[in-house]
Amino acid sequence: MITIRSLHKTYSNGVRALDDISLDIPRGMFGLLGPNGAGKSSLMRTLATLQDADGGSATMDDGNGGSIDMLREKDAVRRQLGYLPQDFGVYPKVSAEDLLNHFAVLKGLTARGARKDTVEGLLKQVNLWDARKRKLGTYSGGMRQRFGIAQALLGQPRLVIVDEPTAGLDPEERNRFLNLLAEIGENVAVILSTHIVEDVTDLCQRMAIMNKGQVLLAGEPADAIAALEGQVWRRRVDKAQLAQYQSRYQVLSTRLVGGQPMIHVFAESDPGDGFERIDAGLEDVYFRQLRLQKKAA
Ligand code: ADP
Repeated sequence: MITIRSLHKTYSNGVRALDDISLDIPRGMFGLLGPNGAGKSSLMRTLATLQDADGGSATMDDGNGGSIDMLREKDAVRRQLGYLPQDFGVYPKVSAEDLLNHFAVLKGLTARGARKDTVEGLLKQVNLWDARKRKLGTYSGGMRQRFGIAQALLGQPRLVIVDEPTAGLDPEERNRFLNLLAEIGENVAVILSTHIVEDVTDLCQRMAIMNKGQVLLAGEPADAIAALEGQVWRRRVDKAQLAQYQSRYQVLSTRLVGGQPMIHVFAESDPGDGFERIDAGLEDVYFRQLRLQKKAA
């Protein structure tokens, strides 16, 4: 679906946001996971034709056996694209129905009847039909994001890009939003950027972990987890001993459980010392990759 090769971008302040990115993004849900500042938005904006790369290539198939040069054929990309930016703002005093109708006009849906059907269908799809007359300013964060998805789906895009859509949503809203994305992902390519590991675990058939402008790992979450199997260990430690453990072991993560630190460490064989082996999770994969990158630097 999308083939990215050696994509790079350095901002005028010298920040290397994309450092030789190569990725294959097939149809379905693709998770782009990385901490804040990793370069996810820079990549999303580049694919969404909103900013230029310094070099490299990105191509997508056009659905008719041809391909689109995403860095140059911007209009062609835009015809196939739905985009929910990180800072999607809405007009607070306008109703969801009116604003979506307005976006539909901008998208070129000029025939009134067809437009009405489209707006109605989308509002139902994102479960906002009953709230369609309400002003967007009264919407919860989750409702606003679902409205954002409705506008992204105008014009039947083949590629949908959503940038950090679950940040700030409560667990229930987040679930509902992810379920909606999963349904959409059955028909089109969806690229979801997130710093929340569970978003990817729960939802994505394929993923990439990104940091400091580089792709650290790409593939299927299950394969990445399987590759760590048998090498993740955990134990509770006293707060006072934490620093000592951090220097002695390859600590992946530290989490307070009932006020006491629980650490996960990477070790190829049993470290002894009260550790128990656990099933690896995507979070362990993620922290392991970040650690390897730091070590290599
Ligand atoms: P993410 O979406 O993963 O948080 P971004 O792509 O937003 O990452 O940012 C990657 C890096 O580029 C960060 O160091 C950020 O501060 C920097 N950056 C992003 N946009 C700009 C810009 N327009 N000008 C200068 N630096 C930027």
